[in-house]
Amino acid sequence: MLGSTDDVPARTLPVAKLISPTRWFDEPGLALCRWVSERYVAPLAAVLERATPPRVAGEEGDDGLAEHRAVSPIAARDRVLERYRRGDDLVNAIAERGRGAWVLRPAPEHEGSGAVEVVAACLDSGRRALVIVPEASPVPGTARAIEQAFGDRVGFLLGGSKRARVRTWLDVQAGRYDVVVGTRPSVFAPVPELGLIVVSRESHPAHREDRAPYYHVRDVARARGDIDGAMVVLSAMAPSSEASALSLPTVAPSRRSWVPVEIVAPGPEGRAPRLVRALSETSRGFLFSPLPGYGIAAVCRRCSNPAACAACGGALRSAEGSISCVVCEAPGRCRSCGATEFGLRKGGQERVEEWARRAARVPVRRLGDADAPRLPADNEILVGGPDDVRDLGLGGLDLVAILDADLADRRPGLTARERAVTTWTEAIAWARPGGRAIVQTSRANDPAIQSLVLGDPSRFHRDERERRAQAGFPIGSAVFRVVGGPELAKALATLEPITLLVSSSQGQTVCLLALDPGDVSAFGREARRLAARDVVARVEAEPHL
Ligand SMILES: [Zn+2]
Ligand SMILES: [Zn+2]
Repeated sequence: MLGSTDDVPARTLPVAKLISPTRWFDEPGLALCRWVSERYVAPLAAVLERATPPRVAGEEGDDGLAEHRAVSPIAARDRVLERYRRGDDLVNAIAERGRGAWVLRPAPEHEGSGAVEVVAACLDSGRRALVIVPEASPVPGTARAIEQAFGDRVGFLLGGSKRARVRTWLDVQAGRYDVVVGTRPSVFAPVPELGLIVVSRESHPAHREDRAPYYHVRDVARARGDIDGAMVVLSAMAPSSEASALSLPTVAPSRRSWVPVEIVAPGPEGRAPRLVRALSETSRGFLFSPLPGYGIAAVCRRCSNPAACAACGGALRSAEGSISCVVCEAPGRCRSCGATEFGLRKGGQERVEEWARRAARVPVRRLGDADAPRLPADNEILVGGPDDVRDLGLGGLDLVAILDADLADRRPGLTARERAVTTWTEAIAWARPGGRAIVQTSRANDPAIQSLVLGDPSRFHRDERERRAQAGFPIGSAVFRVVGGPELAKALATLEPITLLVSSSQGQTVCLLALDPGDVSAFGREARRLAARDVVARVEAEPHL
């Protein structure tokens, strides 16, 4: 509850029960939730639900203001951004309590220290800072760097029990912490006198909420920056196309600070001779392979027909010694004759582990589904996939190899290529300083590959802008998936969207539409009107394309 109002709707119900005496949001917090409700066409109640921690009895409203902890000494900090293009401008703007959004493209060895430097500038100006990281576990290197620099001035909203989250949330609200580090929901954390929001690994898919109201941290952070008068720094080694399309001032190293990247053709069975030689000289390395398993079943050993799942016709994969369907996970049986023996087309992380073992002079291990992502130990080469590439701090590896880069183009989805570029970039960054990076691809001139060679995704972004516009979903447009009744498509067409794709699923009409951002309010009004007439059943903002 914020207080009393004269703005009473025509129909209001009496208050039935006071759930909690705690005030979970203030006027600016409510303004932000209203913005989210408008932008993502979601009910305000659903936004408020997401924007506040889950209720826990007994934690709330007990002790008033938490005592302010003693300020711990700040460790000596590297000033790295003064060596960056526009680095001084960014630090000065924060120190002068400015507002507005910037893009920071750190060199791999400055990902943590760059974040520390902008946060320090904010704290020195007498305001507080919020750092949003994509994942809670393992604790990202950027979060560890912030903790190391600012000690007990830092509050963490990284997973933990419901009770602990509520307690930290209340401490944050009481002003106990000068810096708050948290995952996605912490973009709503009630940090008083907020001066800076840093979005770490801004291009990471986990910054998008997968439930209603389907918000994206990048956009909510910018809206909050406007409302609270705070600076926003979108930080990523490979920023997203969305961030690049905003034409924000960009801070980047003024001299090359990127790993030399060698491009080689895949060679027989995906093993370039140069990579095999490099493995024999490597004592710490990471081999990135996008596919799990040992291979895909090609033909049935009994009837010689092409292999396909007997249950659903999907592809059959061999992994951990058994064959099962990639689509329905049924045990692998031949669609034509029911047999269970197949000739394999070898490829995938298990296969890479097998041949890398023969080539390397140190142990080669594969990170399985149950293993926590980690960097290789001394005298160890790790094989891992997309989920293993995390903010694990400085890599310092001798060798990082990207295998099967050509597969990225064959993945479904409009944004698969961009996700691949981000992951490759973050993996290659582990080879700094002095390490070697080898990318196996047959398309050396592809803008995605060239962005890896240059350590700068600009050319890829130009290509991507064109590609996404051609597909009907220009970068910067607002995209919605709307599910509803048979009149839906006609009703939405009257809004004159950039693109309207109509399909049907389980008796319902499914519309995918791209809108000019300026038309979202009109769409929201129309969607609410249509929902009242049962023409719209569900609206999902910014679906994964
Ligand atoms: Zn199947
Ligand atoms: Zn068969």
